[in-house]
Amino acid sequence: MTPHVVLFDIDGTLLSTDGAGRRAMEYAMTTTYGVPGVDGYRYDGKTDRQIVREQLRALGHDDAWIDDGLERVIARYLERLPLELEATRAAHVVHRGVVALLDALAREPRTIVGLLTGNVEPGARAKLEATGIGRSRFVVGAFGSDHEVRAELPAIAQARAEALLGRPVAGEALVIIGDTPADMTCGAAIGARAIGVTTGRFTHDALAAHAPVAVFDALDDVPAVTAAILGHR
Ligand SMILES: [Mg+2]
Repeated sequence: MTPHVVLFDIDGTLLSTDGAGRRAMEYAMTTTYGVPGVDGYRYDGKTDRQIVREQLRALGHDDAWIDDGLERVIARYLERLPLELEATRAAHVVHRGVVALLDALAREPRTIVGLLTGNVEPGARAKLEATGIGRSRFVVGAFGSDHEVRAELPAIAQARAEALLGRPVAGEALVIIGDTPADMTCGAAIGARAIGVTTGRFTHDALAAHAPVAVFDALDDVPAVTAAILGHR
């Protein structure tokens, strides 16, 4: 039987870094484009390039100008991120139950575990290493460095799971776990399932509105989350 491919969002789902990513991005945007972004703009649920583009468009800039700086802004973000992570280390949070769930899924023969995140891959790695979760336990994934549009990421993760396993992986075998409506909806086109968790900004109802298979307040009820992943509900 093809295993379930469990794909975790990072920020607000596995961990929170007290705004380190945001401050690194504001620094990178300031030094690249001369502006830190838009007051009150929300980063959650967005890919890194989308975060740059949407804010600069809102400030009236065109895509040619944005694209001209895009590789530079991501490079500066990645240079700055370790400093911001170090400065906020005491305030980092690994959300309740995350490590126990990841450990349980690693022992579960019916699952493989990966990432589906708007972070560019080196940024994802930096956050996972800084918080002690580590990068190596995630064997597949799709990242903000693979595509600017989150809804394109599940098919990329699916293709990588197929390459890893050496056989077809149906869309329904993918389970995307995240804290935003964008996580709940991004896999719809390929039939992926979603599980919501309210450790980010969004409420139970805001996530449940997008028809995930379950919404949890945290991932600490490992048997219940595992049952939702495996579909035994
Ligand atoms: Mg998130």
